[in-house]
Amino acid sequence: MVFRIYCGALITDGQRYAHRALLVDKGRIVAWEPYEPDALARIEPPDVDARDYIALPGMIDLHIHGGFGRDMMEGTPEAVQAVAQRLARHGVTAFLATPLTAPWGAIRNCMRAARTVREHGSEGARVLGCHLEGPFINPKRAGAQPPEYIRPPSVRELETELGDLMSELRIVTLAPELEGGLELTRHLTGQGIIVSIGHSDATYEQTLQAIENGARHATHTFNAMRPFQHRDPGLAGAVMLRDELTAEIIWDNVHTHPATAQLLVKAKGVERVICVSDGTTGVGMPNGYTFELWGHRAVVQNNAARMVETGGLAGSTIAMDACLKHCAETLGLEVASLLCAANPARALGYGDELGTLRPGACADILLWNPRAQQIEYTYIDGVLQLCESETAGDSISVANNLNSPEGGP
Ligand SMILES: [Zn+2]
Repeated sequence: MVFRIYCGALITDGQRYAHRALLVDKGRIVAWEPYEPDALARIEPPDVDARDYIALPGMIDLHIHGGFGRDMMEGTPEAVQAVAQRLARHGVTAFLATPLTAPWGAIRNCMRAARTVREHGSEGARVLGCHLEGPFINPKRAGAQPPEYIRPPSVRELETELGDLMSELRIVTLAPELEGGLELTRHLTGQGIIVSIGHSDATYEQTLQAIENGARHATHTFNAMRPFQHRDPGLAGAVMLRDELTAEIIWDNVHTHPATAQLLVKAKGVERVICVSDGTTGVGMPNGYTFELWGHRAVVQNNAARMVETGGLAGSTIAMDACLKHCAETLGLEVASLLCAANPARALGYGDELGTLRPGACADILLWNPRAQQIEYTYIDGVLQLCESETAGDSISVANNLNSPEGGP
């Protein structure tokens, strides 16, 4: 079906364009057409009147474990599917399922489930593969990863345990300073898998060695990593300084102070920082909601998940729409969209297809309401997803309005 979305403005690739209609055909954006807002006659379905909205490219979450009461470590396609569906309503149109440090059997189940949903297609955000966070991490920087399942880096062990599931890996978070860490970094890089340095106590010098061996990414910068100090710049200093590394940031204003996030963008430039949610089962759940992380209880408290035993942070309780909003508050929507859409797409090699509204890209489109400062509609492959506005009541009736004779949002 060919249709047009008449947007008040569209933002893509760091630029804003006023009064454009996005022409969508067979799930792709095929053209932009400028229009005169005053000269426009009535907009009839299937065209969409989004003149009060700003179109943004769909967001891509490279680091997410679950949400909305579901954990992808449940290891069933149904759990992955449930998360994918809810994510779409928060403006996430693609993601990497992220198994964490756990028994290999559980990691395999999670990856197998993600593969099933990826192959059959999800009714919601696309699964692009897996980000394996652990088990080859430094116990000193374990954060909320269960220490009992941490393993020393080993090419052989990884290949044996994952077998044909290796092809699902897009990113592996590991600590390169551990014995065997550099060898594993070279091996994964050689297979086209992105090595992300994280849960790591690497010094500045050890990080440079990891970069020489192929490491290209850093996992939730500043969290669970050797910090920056002026005489010991550490992994965090290397992430800020070295252009080879793209840097994840959990911009929830809990894991990092907004000024720290801003400092990272200033150091690395707007094209090398990537917002991730690190979302847990607790995403979208109320205060006091408890869930289990491999035998350890975590509780949702004031916009974060915390370990019951230690009080330490156990991942976030927000989705990417909140990261976008926090980032936009300090750096503007143009930059925020780069960090949440274009940059993660490019890191995975999808720069022409995802994270952009350029003609030729998949029609993964968000409609942002500038008055309410929130995403209200999400299209994936040109198909409107059910929308969820936590404050705006019945999502289905809102979604249906879009194709009503009154002309939509
Ligand atoms: Zn994580």
